[in-house]
Amino acid sequence: MAPTYTMAGGKGPNSYSQHSTYQRALIEVAKEKISEAISTKLEINSASNRFNIADFGCSTGPNTFLAVQNIIDAVGQKYRKETQKNPDDNIEFQVLFNDHSNNDFNTLFQTLPPTKGYFVAGVPGSFFGRVLPRDSLHVGHCSYSLHWLSQIPKGIADPNSPAWNKDIHCTGFSEEVAEAYLDQFKIDMGSFLKARGEELVSGGLLFLLGSCVPDGVKMSETMKGMLLDHLGNCLNDVAKEGLINQEELDSFNFPIYPAHVAEFKSVIEDNGCFTIEAFEKISHANEEFPLGPEFLATSNKVTFGGVIESRFGKEALERTNELYEKKCPEILPELANAKSGMQFFIMLRRN
Ligand code: SAH
Repeated sequence: MAPTYTMAGGKGPNSYSQHSTYQRALIEVAKEKISEAISTKLEINSASNRFNIADFGCSTGPNTFLAVQNIIDAVGQKYRKETQKNPDDNIEFQVLFNDHSNNDFNTLFQTLPPTKGYFVAGVPGSFFGRVLPRDSLHVGHCSYSLHWLSQIPKGIADPNSPAWNKDIHCTGFSEEVAEAYLDQFKIDMGSFLKARGEELVSGGLLFLLGSCVPDGVKMSETMKGMLLDHLGNCLNDVAKEGLINQEELDSFNFPIYPAHVAEFKSVIEDNGCFTIEAFEKISHANEEFPLGPEFLATSNKVTFGGVIESRFGKEALERTNELYEKKCPEILPELANAKSGMQFFIMLRRN
């Protein structure tokens, strides 16, 4: 069964499509880097007029449309420069939108930009396996998706295991818990790279944008970690009020793990199919969250609400969110002191 941790679908005020400007800011700042990379690192095969682009973990839009348009514009520019021909008449772009099968693909397809100059297909399925034919992909893109693991790491939900985690995520304070999360990340990221290694043509590029934790920093010292701790505290309050079973909550974990930089690099090196062309911090207009309680509460709901609702029910989710927003001002001073530098731009080239 496909997991329930997709983003909130639809186009309403509490949907991912209406509430993903935080994530969009990273795609906007990465535009120039992607354009530069395509201009200098990508070889365009002028013998073929097909160009395939895939966005892994595309969600419902509109961020994915911006990401693929940036890639298409950059490829077009390069083509025009190298061949003096018009890319619109000569290249057929095909965009493959990938996400879990229970992602709201209807909203995605209904909101496609009307003047898009590309063919479209949805490729549902987990990106930890292959979703495209071998040697068919020229440029892959994936933003804010690789911190989602395929499953809850072994042991962390089991009160009898040394890796039992009473927190809802990997705070960084327990070695056993951190090890369990890292083991799962290695498996998942290894599978992701293996699959992309098979799909990408030699010389193809893979752009990975999103969150990493700087080496030596614990997740709970970062803004995103603090927000997850805040969510955990609110869930605990709701358990005390009786809407959530405390024991169940003590074994509840999010399958998310933003890896440390060194951990991420080592999985790429172990895979061996890619050259790391860039692995850099990138500053992000919204990085330090100068954002109010209402924004943070809605963000929390559209990204994590699905998981909470499927585990504890709708009423518990509503109450948790109410408390999340109400108590947010209490954590704003702490957030102001969070360790920064979590947004990364990674570019890999298929050997
Ligand atoms: N790339 C978009 C959406 C990020 S939200 C943006 O930057 O705004 C993360 C998305 O990754 C969600 O839609 C989620 O369903 C998807 N995702 C997480 N794990 C996945 C997996 N194993 N396979 C495919 N999609 C996945």
